[in-house]
Amino acid sequence: MSDCLFCKIVRKEIPAAIVYEDDTLLAFKDINPQAPVHLLLIPKAHCENLNDLTPATAEAAARIPGVAAQLARDHGVAEAGWRLTTNCGIEGGQGVYHLHFHVIGGKPLGSRVCR
Ligand code: AMP
Ligand code: ZN
Repeated sequence: MSDCLFCKIVRKEIPAAIVYEDDTLLAFKDINPQAPVHLLLIPKAHCENLNDLTPATAEAAARIPGVAAQLARDHGVAEAGWRLTTNCGIEGGQGVYHLHFHVIGGKPLGSRVCR
């Protein structure tokens, strides 16, 4: 998608603090971190959100929990605890319509997943 912000990051057309990259996934630091560790893990292929998965994007997305756990270890939050979440659609609070998972940790996050 030519005008998608995260597709532009995938194509390296705009800068991002990339912390992980493989053939189908990319992770970078959130520009407005809500915790000491706040990463965004995305499939490189454009897909709006979990409502929009295709067989190809689902294959990449299926690898996200494992890569997120590796990122949590790499960033030193695995043992203390961390969170993996995705916002889907308007009431889900989604702001950027390229599927992305937040990897958040480094402070107590509480047990509530919504307010
Ligand atoms: P969401 O509300 O789940 O769609 O989350 C979108 C996230 O993207 C927010 O946490 C933003 O801070 C983050 N974000 C927006 N623009 C950028 C950017 N250029 N680089 C890194 N993160 C971004
Ligand atoms: Zn995109």
